[in-house]
Amino acid sequence: PKMSGPEVRQAFLSFFQGRGHTKLPSSSLVPEDPTVLLTIAGMLQFKPVFLGQAPRKVARATTSQKCVRTNDIDNVGATARHHTFFEMLGNFSFGDYFKKEAIMWAWELSTVVYGLPPERVWVSVYEEDEEALALWRDVVGVDPSRIRKMGAADNFWASGPTGPCGPCSELHHDFTPVELYYDFHPERGTGPEVTLEDDSRFIEFYNLVFMELNRDAAGTLTPLAAKNIDTGMGLERMAQILQGVPNNYETDLIFPIVAKAAELAGLDYAAAPPAAQTALKVIGDHVRAVVYLLSDGVLPSNVGRGYVLRRLLRRVIMKGRLLGIQGEFTPAVAQVAIALSGDCDPAVAGNAGRIIAEMAREEALFSATLSKGQKQLDDMLARALAAGSSSSSDGGSSSSGPVLAGADAFLLYDSFGFPLELTRELAEAAGVALDDPGFEAAMAAQRARSSASREAVDLTADGGLSQLAAALPAGTSFEGYGASDLVLAG
Ligand code: ATP
Ligand code: MG
Ligand code: MG
Ligand code: MG
Repeated sequence: PKMSGPEVRQAFLSFFQGRGHTKLPSSSLVPEDPTVLLTIAGMLQFKPVFLGQAPRKVARATTSQKCVRTNDIDNVGATARHHTFFEMLGNFSFGDYFKKEAIMWAWELSTVVYGLPPERVWVSVYEEDEEALALWRDVVGVDPSRIRKMGAADNFWASGPTGPCGPCSELHHDFTPVELYYDFHPERGTGPEVTLEDDSRFIEFYNLVFMELNRDAAGTLTPLAAKNIDTGMGLERMAQILQGVPNNYETDLIFPIVAKAAELAGLDYAAAPPAAQTALKVIGDHVRAVVYLLSDGVLPSNVGRGYVLRRLLRRVIMKGRLLGIQGEFTPAVAQVAIALSGDCDPAVAGNAGRIIAEMAREEALFSATLSKGQKQLDDMLARALAAGSSSSSDGGSSSSGPVLAGADAFLLYDSFGFPLELTRELAEAAGVALDDPGFEAAMAAQRARSSASREAVDLTADGGLSQLAAALPAGTSFEGYGASDLVLAG
């Protein structure tokens, strides 16, 4: 059935409430656990129970948990299914039911409640978990051709190097009608190997963790006193599947935000070029993250959670400028995210005034930075154009047009806090190429000069992650960023 986002959420929670689970509220994006930067999964609020450090209040719980995963920041807009902010639907057993019920209910929920055609659901199991494999095959009746064994990287879950852990099993939806594929028609030959990692065909939507082991400091696995169930289903992913849209961003949970940004940019999303669509998706994603982080009390800063927030908001502003949006725009986009937030987190609406004010303040700050940098860049581009093809600092390159010297781009980046991505786009729009090797060389030289004492945490540099770790309270775990396009200065 075609379901709205809120219906997908409610169907999950009702299904498990009907099976003895207590519905509990989402916890804050700022975890109580001081060793974790942000809430990355539904299990986090229950970690003390799983660890046996706190008594269970209920035997079974179900939640829709607000999550932020910074490790997926570079996937946003690039894949169809990754967000920084998303909601994770979960059902949990604290020493109560285990593998068999978790598997059977996951199947019933997926194929009956959500109505996924059974032959379009594939499952993966941990390669050593014959029990899970047998349950899927013999109890549920999944055709063995749709069950894949996978290694520890994908199908063995651990909360960290030590602690509770166990094999997991994931459900994947097959977007492509199976009859198109060779493996169902042996007479056509073997054809390409089917892999669940092919995200043009499959989407992982539900992960069932069978938390039955404890790993000690020596790496030894011993059975836990209680066998637990910890699961996570991506709300936006299930909405994508059920709404028949090509990516999470086009679901009713996010698209109104994307559409608002498109409107402000004077674009028709559907007709916009792919790069513009990607920028709009990034705005749609990051604005949600910013709104919920601000609502949960995080403030922009240059360290820790505040840095994550600032970086997300500045990426929004930069993408907006690249799309040609002039003047203050993040509050208007945020209003749409706030209007959509009621079913996810009723507290957001009450914090709207503060959220909007904070965004406007940060946008004004960063816009001032950008316009200072823009003036410099305009001069540099004029010089590069006047110099024609002779300004490449490295020589050697085969390009023959005007080039923006790497040292200039680095000055903008380092002293003016001007994002490299913006420099590149604006330079290219003016017909000037960026001297990347020259930029890298200037960056390396600067790093060598200042490696000894560095105040600011620059995640765009190698080692930025360990600097951030150093700036955070001891024991804080941080997932990190991938390649970056944004520097934070002054
Ligand atoms: P993927 O392999 O797609 O990155 P994952 O295996 O890292 O997902 P889990 O840690 O198993 O994800 O999280 C449980 C569920 O939460 C996933 O099955 C998915 O539905 C959802 N999910 C995880 N990460 C994201 C994300 N970045 N954006 C949206 N949904 C997500
Ligand atoms: Mg992942
Ligand atoms: Mg996965
Ligand atoms: Mg997973």
